[in-house]
Amino acid sequence: MQLCWLRTDLRITDNHALWHASQRGPVTAVYVVTPNDWQAHDDAAIKVDFWRRNLQALASELQQLQIPLQLLHAERWSDCPALLLDHARAVGASSLHFNDEYGIHEQQRDDAVSQAFSGAGLNCQRYTDQLLFAPGTLTTQSGGMYKVYSQFRRQAYSRLHQHLPALLPAPAKQQPLEIESTVVPDHFGDFTPAGPELEQRWPAGEQAAAERLRHFSTQLIEDYAEDRDRPDLDATSRLSPYLAAGVLSPRQCLHAALQANRGEFDGGNPGAVSWINELLWREFYKHILVCYPRVSRHRAFRPETEAVAWRNDPEGLAAWQQGRTGIPLVDAAMRQLLATGWMHNRLRMVSAMFLTKNLLIDWREGERWFMQHLIDGDLAANNGGWQWSASTGTDAAPYFRVFNPVSQSEKFDPDGSFIRQWVPELAHLPARQIHLPPSGDLFSGGSYPAPIVDLRSSRQRAIDAFRNAGEPA
Ligand code: FAD
Repeated sequence: MQLCWLRTDLRITDNHALWHASQRGPVTAVYVVTPNDWQAHDDAAIKVDFWRRNLQALASELQQLQIPLQLLHAERWSDCPALLLDHARAVGASSLHFNDEYGIHEQQRDDAVSQAFSGAGLNCQRYTDQLLFAPGTLTTQSGGMYKVYSQFRRQAYSRLHQHLPALLPAPAKQQPLEIESTVVPDHFGDFTPAGPELEQRWPAGEQAAAERLRHFSTQLIEDYAEDRDRPDLDATSRLSPYLAAGVLSPRQCLHAALQANRGEFDGGNPGAVSWINELLWREFYKHILVCYPRVSRHRAFRPETEAVAWRNDPEGLAAWQQGRTGIPLVDAAMRQLLATGWMHNRLRMVSAMFLTKNLLIDWREGERWFMQHLIDGDLAANNGGWQWSASTGTDAAPYFRVFNPVSQSEKFDPDGSFIRQWVPELAHLPARQIHLPPSGDLFSGGSYPAPIVDLRSSRQRAIDAFRNAGEPA
């Protein structure tokens, strides 16, 4: 018997662990429910519920293949080795198969599980599945890990040209086993269900993910390069929750993009090229997480930036979190996050820069808030995005290039329709006014707040803080 431990790889197609397990003999699958550790890692309720809903969909896919799925409950990840070992013995499994995950605690947990299995004389097989390349396998000529994205991408392209990773099919239907599947519950621990509106916005299951990928790669990808920075348009794939939960694999995305671009990676349709580039950013940040473990411990990638004197400003932080800073685009973005569990990439950059530069609040506060609210929350991408915006990361924005949220708004939400959607207090304003922080006269008696910070002087304050911390201009 082969035991397949499913985690953030909630799909039956192109799943390395599941496929390889199925090639070795009958398979039974297991999922470990660990609400305490999810809480400790700041996983958002909307994300945990997305996992749960996808697990329900996966359970019925597995049932059709006659692969049982059982749920185990663990207080802590440190209980996983004993729990899985007992389970393997109970079902008579000789091997455990799972796909690698890359956070430092996930790796510690998985190493402990591997050791427990080999100590007990059982086999444990681990696979690279969440990524196109195993972290550490793309290196500079001197054998080091890349720190600059464009160089990393160049090597990734050259590898992909040599060898395009193939897609694996779903396992074949197997003979029925005498193992009862567990019913997936209607909530996990204290993580409340998302509710019908969000369930509709983020439908669960591999088929929903495949349909979204098909729609994007046939209808939207062509204009992606041009429109991807526009939060007022439906121009990006919105596949991040599916990639983060492993309902979709990066190989499936890559193949769909190549198909839309007659097999070309770096020529042809600029939209497809630009989208593949984003998939490689995802890859890059996961490699960074593994190769520079300090970022997994919430340390700055560039240690010298630890000297920046961040401000302690609980009121400013709360205003940012709740979308009432008085800066329309920032507030619209933060409200989109609270209402939908997702935020457009351009707005993640704008709101992160606003917090870390204009408010000069430590990027770790923003990183945590995003993680606690994002349906696609992913340690590597979130940390990478925050450290990029805060100028503390690898290949980050230079600290003196601070986005101005008003000009970003004018450029990327030109007629203000995104702001109108999320900040209804401003909906009556014409496009030329809607981007601006309100001035007293216009808003006296209104419900929208005055700006909590002056954009120009706070920008200078941030530049001075980095300079005082010893950052060269
Ligand atoms: P598309 O534009 O369609 O891109 C396709 C896929 O590529 C995405 O689904 C995602 O998996 C990947 N991708 C795109 N841009 C990036 C990027 N800059 N870095 C890494 N991967 C990328 N992405 C997450 O998946 N989880 C996070 O927790 C997360 N936090 C972020 C925090 C900040 C401060 C910033 C600036 C960015 C963050 N991102 C995060 C990256 C990016 O904003 C989202 O991946 C993207 O907005 C998701 O929308 P989409 O699926 O429509 O993307």
